[in-house]
Amino acid sequence: MKNKIEKALKNVMMIDNKNIVESGLVKKIDLLNNEIQIYLILSNPTMHIKNRLIKDITHSIKNQNILNTIRIKIEIKSNIKIKPKNIIAIASGKGGVGKSTIATNIAVSLVQMGFHVGLLDADIYGPSIPLMFHIENNSGNLQHENGVINPITSYGVKILSIGFFSKDGQAIVWRGPMVTKVLRQFIHETNWGGLDFLIVDLPPGTGDIHLSLLQEIPLKGIVIVSTSQKIALSDVNRSVGMFRIRSIYVPILGIIENMSYVFSKKTKEKYYFFGKDGVRDFSKKMNLFFLGEIPMLQNIRECSDLGIPVVIENEYVRNIFIKITKNIINQLDK
Ligand code: ADP
Repeated sequence: MKNKIEKALKNVMMIDNKNIVESGLVKKIDLLNNEIQIYLILSNPTMHIKNRLIKDITHSIKNQNILNTIRIKIEIKSNIKIKPKNIIAIASGKGGVGKSTIATNIAVSLVQMGFHVGLLDADIYGPSIPLMFHIENNSGNLQHENGVINPITSYGVKILSIGFFSKDGQAIVWRGPMVTKVLRQFIHETNWGGLDFLIVDLPPGTGDIHLSLLQEIPLKGIVIVSTSQKIALSDVNRSVGMFRIRSIYVPILGIIENMSYVFSKKTKEKYYFFGKDGVRDFSKKMNLFFLGEIPMLQNIRECSDLGIPVVIENEYVRNIFIKITKNIINQLDK
């Protein structure tokens, strides 16, 4: 009987293509008279991952022709104490669509709404969060206490960037496993305090790093940023596909259309630079929630360059971000 169960468990795969026995997740199997009890330890114990594992394990055991009358009890526990309540990742298909700008201003909007917020810049290809908060020269102030990192606080947001650990102008050429190790440390060995939200600025696109990140970090959901341009959306399509792979399945909270239009004060008309309603139509097609649109504004670019989150300065943009941020919170509650 135990052999049959072990065989069944070996058919349940994790994202890295290892089965749950091989990965060392199965800690104990108890056989009682009419009950099988299985105990698992996981570093990423979000509800959707737990539910998927319970479903897959039950299905796989039933396939081994084990009596229907036997009950299967599965207990999944975490080996890590996760402090942030809600970890939300901001993703994009392409670079340059405004992902970091939006991560920055959602984080500051959450602070303005009274939440405790952290921002983790995991964009190894172009960590721009230090520039957006004008703290690019502050990495020297990062303090470690007993191996625990203290983040830098700016505009009320606790910030940690992978860019703090590379010299200006130097590329980060870590391989996937190294990045995963560093990011794990950033999440679990950082003095975040009690956070309501931790926003993670992901690298653009799809790749090894995303896969290991998604496995490592217990995400509550993903927010996708895109422009309406066809090539930007075709890359988003790939990202959505990745997040929806059965073994990953992270809920996508919705999609934001950035640089939707330019408003001309002279003609009082909107000009749809990247095409009109591209993201809105895409969201309908892909069954994604449309979180809102952000116009292309010179002041947004200027504030980024000055290292001031635009929602601090510009009331019009602040109201747009507050609306989008409220939509994200509503989607989380669903
Ligand atoms: P990503 O993180 O996707 O690579 P960034 O957030 O770094 O993109 O944005 C790229 C550039 O575009 C930045 O200079 C930023 O200031 C600018 N930008 C982003 N969104 C807007 C917008 N809505 N209006 C004007 N400029 C924007």
